Amino acid sequence: MMQQYDLLIIGGGPAGLTAAIYGARARLRTAVLEKGAVGGQAFTTREIVNFPGFASTSGPTLMKALAEHAKGFGTEIITEEVTSVELQGELKQVYTRKGRTYQARAVILAPGAQPRLLNIPGEKLLRGSGVSYCATCDAEFYQDQDVVVVGNGDAAIEEALYITKYARKVTIIVIHDEGIVDCNRASAEKAFQHPQIEFVWNSVLAEIKGELEVEAVVIKNLKTGALSTMPANGVFIYVGMIPGTGFLKNQVELDDCGYILAEPSMETSINGVFAAGDATAKVLRQVVTAANDGAIAAVAAERYLEEEDSFKREILSAATPVLVAFWSPNKPECISLLTQLEALASVRERQVKLVKVDASRKKRLAQMYGIEQFPAVLVLNKGILLQKVTGEVNATCLCLADTISAG
Ligand SMILES: Cc1cc2nc3c(=O)[nH]c(=O)nc-3n(C[C@H](O)[C@H](O)[C@H](O)COP(=O)(O)OP(=O)(O)OC[C@H]3O[C@@H](n4cnc5c(N)ncnc54)[C@H](O)[C@@H]3O)c2cc1C
Repeated sequence: MMQQYDLLIIGGGPAGLTAAIYGARARLRTAVLEKGAVGGQAFTTREIVNFPGFASTSGPTLMKALAEHAKGFGTEIITEEVTSVELQGELKQVYTRKGRTYQARAVILAPGAQPRLLNIPGEKLLRGSGVSYCATCDAEFYQDQDVVVVGNGDAAIEEALYITKYARKVTIIVIHDEGIVDCNRASAEKAFQHPQIEFVWNSVLAEIKGELEVEAVVIKNLKTGALSTMPANGVFIYVGMIPGTGFLKNQVELDDCGYILAEPSMETSINGVFAAGDATAKVLRQVVTAANDGAIAAVAAERYLEEEDSFKREILSAATPVLVAFWSPNKPECISLLTQLEALASVRERQVKLVKVDASRKKRLAQMYGIEQFPAVLVLNKGILLQKVTGEVNATCLCLADTISAG
């Protein structure tokens, strides 16, 4: 038996779990598909000090609370990895590694992104104990200490500058020749002139040393091959992020780096498919922004489902011809047209039905029929579009509507 849901959420991090809270609370049959531990990246974070309202909490505590909250509203959490999807069409298909298929009328993509690892000795062991991939999250733990930053793109240099607010000294390890960095010029100049920042050129990190926490790093000079050890309290690694969107290729629109392109409403390039969190192209990847996206995506998904239902019920299945009036509350001419259409519909009560669509809220329906100007009126019979009138709607439309409704 295939499981069918109103809303399926792929990824059980803060974005997916927040979407689940909003979705399930709106009485949508909601499930989260999560391949690993519920809570995502945030679950692996020892201390979180920047989630609003929580001066200090741990990743696991916050994420367990989120999961319980989502379950409390009726969310099903399913531990399975999604391997492929078919997202076009009304009913979306989601396939998992266990060979199961799940179906849903709306899908939220929240698979997150992983920092690219250096894969050097000590990195995995000391992750969260001095090895970090997020200065916004962890810089303040290095008050007056010595920190190493690996990388030289925008993220590396901007985060290095940020770390100087706390650390005594920041050493940036750069793979290129002296003076060459990949970041924007303004940040590079600031970093070159900063009294707390030093650069080590033509080098990579070969090892991170320490038992319980970071104590030193081993740096390899690429020109000479020489290894040198430098004491350090923390290592921040910025060699890129990998969005978990491999299973979405050729499905939704992604940017060049593989991040999902989403509107401010979190809609993707496919109807009924929304995205949230670190897997989307965005400026700040944090728990609070992931939760924000999740909430917006779920509300957008709920509206989408409601629009689909009412479109079928009121327009496609109507027994009489339907006048669909697209109006906008900001346009007085729309209000006057509505009044006239209402009068007409009441006279021809049995022959025609009037459906009013607030186009400022239901943009998708307007887009579906290529309507860009308001007011606009569609005349449909049994789902078939007979006429579309936009712009100077009043006289033409009323006359047309009258003719059709008169049979
Ligand atoms: C070390 C570290 C420390 C951090 N510290 C902080 C902090 O202090 N404060 C802060 O605000 N932010 C912090 N962040 C950032 C924060 O964790 C992320 O921004 C946030 O977790 C993103 O949420 P998300 O739901 O978009 O993605 P994620 O948390 O990455 O969750 C995505 C989930 O989707 C699942 N998934 C992926 N692909 C599939 C699939 N195919 N099938 C099923 N499931 C799938 C993953 O297993 C994962 O659980 C930190 C990040 C790191 C790496």
